[in-house]
Amino acid sequence: MRLSRFFLPTLKETPTEAQIVSHRLMLRAGMIRQHAAGIYNWLPLGTRVLQNIIQIVREEQNAAGAQEIIMPTIQSGDLWKESGRYDDYGPEMLRIKDRHERDMLYGPTHEEVVTDIFRNSIKSYRDLPKNLYQINWKFRDEVRPRFGLMRGREFLMKDAYSFDLDYERSRHAYNQMFVAYLRTFARLGLKAIPMKADSGPIGGDLSHEFIVLADTGESAVFTHKALLEMPAPQNVDYEKDLQPIIDQWTSLYAATDDKHDPAMADKLGADLVSARGIEVGHIFHFGKKYSEPMKASVIGSDGNPVTVFMGSYGIGVSRLVAAIIEASHDEHGIVWPDAVAPFDVGLINLKVGDAACDEACKKIYDALSLEKRDVLYDDRDERAGVKFADMDLIGLPWQIVVGPKGVAKGIVELKRRATGAKEEISFEGAVAKLTVM
Ligand code: ATP
Ligand code: MG
Repeated sequence: MRLSRFFLPTLKETPTEAQIVSHRLMLRAGMIRQHAAGIYNWLPLGTRVLQNIIQIVREEQNAAGAQEIIMPTIQSGDLWKESGRYDDYGPEMLRIKDRHERDMLYGPTHEEVVTDIFRNSIKSYRDLPKNLYQINWKFRDEVRPRFGLMRGREFLMKDAYSFDLDYERSRHAYNQMFVAYLRTFARLGLKAIPMKADSGPIGGDLSHEFIVLADTGESAVFTHKALLEMPAPQNVDYEKDLQPIIDQWTSLYAATDDKHDPAMADKLGADLVSARGIEVGHIFHFGKKYSEPMKASVIGSDGNPVTVFMGSYGIGVSRLVAAIIEASHDEHGIVWPDAVAPFDVGLINLKVGDAACDEACKKIYDALSLEKRDVLYDDRDERAGVKFADMDLIGLPWQIVVGPKGVAKGIVELKRRATGAKEEISFEGAVAKLTVM
């Protein structure tokens, strides 16, 4: 992609409306623009990052046995009257009347819709287990939308819903999502810690929030410091008993503020880390909360109807874009983890119009494209300083700088954005280095 053609409206000034660094950088890097309070347009650079995150989330959901569907964003109020949540949900739910005066709503979550899909088509215990997920926009009319994508009103969520025959099996479904989440966040370059969370009116302790530590996080959290070093599970067989992995992660203390036991401060001493955190995921086992009122049952092996056990599992996909920036930036701009970067490489031509520089850039661009590397080529007629600043701001993992002096010797400068480390290297060397990864 040529930068001269790419829609990348970067800003030099810091937008005054943005209070946290991720919001400021997303506006400055031309990733998003606000449409209305808590509602955003995604511009090309932001869209590319969002798509990369979606793809990783999707791969890990599929690997864990979940199946992707798409449910409507506009829902019928009738289902919510059946579950009893239509009146309970409160002003966060955007209620809409259609032309026939029917109660509709913009979905803040999808338990009712997915339970309706289930009960209409799944009739036998032989069809279980099932885990259905979507990656789709939600609307919650938050009292205080703020911090950009962190707390929007319209936001992208991955929401999965599991259906099982009994408690034990639904517990396994919960564990599968738990492990999938550990893997997903690790692939995104994040350290997300599962923490005991409020289990709601159903009771039990089967609810965990996945929290990324960041100074700007909205909630206070407490965690054993060993959890910060724990590697995500590798080579997982999702059919096997996953409880040992869950035990390993939950045997160490970690809790959000509302669940925190102050006595743990004395008990753990220097092992206890007190920090602030961003909730990027939340998994929840709620048994028959929806299946009972909505009559979602299957015929069991003995011929009698069995009400199914359910869980729901959310990931804040659009919030993750902001969370990744909060966790990975410096004074010059964003530092994208390789896995989610909007382009792999930024190619800077220091002397556009110089035949040798143009030629070298074209050669490098073509060679990298052939190896399926996404390159953003700064072919603008701009000062070097502007080009360097913009490239640092948008945070691509690698930069290749092509200038007349180097080109005469067959050399370019290769810079790693995260460390700032630079090396002089031949064209071929740079291409080879960026294609082995
Ligand atoms: P919060 O406590 O932050 O309001 P929640 O507990 O109401 O979130 P869930 O219903 O658990 O949210 O939704 C699943 C995930 O969706 C959350 O873990 C979070 O990452 C994301 N999310 C929730 N609300 C928002 C929002 N207003 N803007 C962006 N992402 C959100
Ligand atoms: Mg939550």
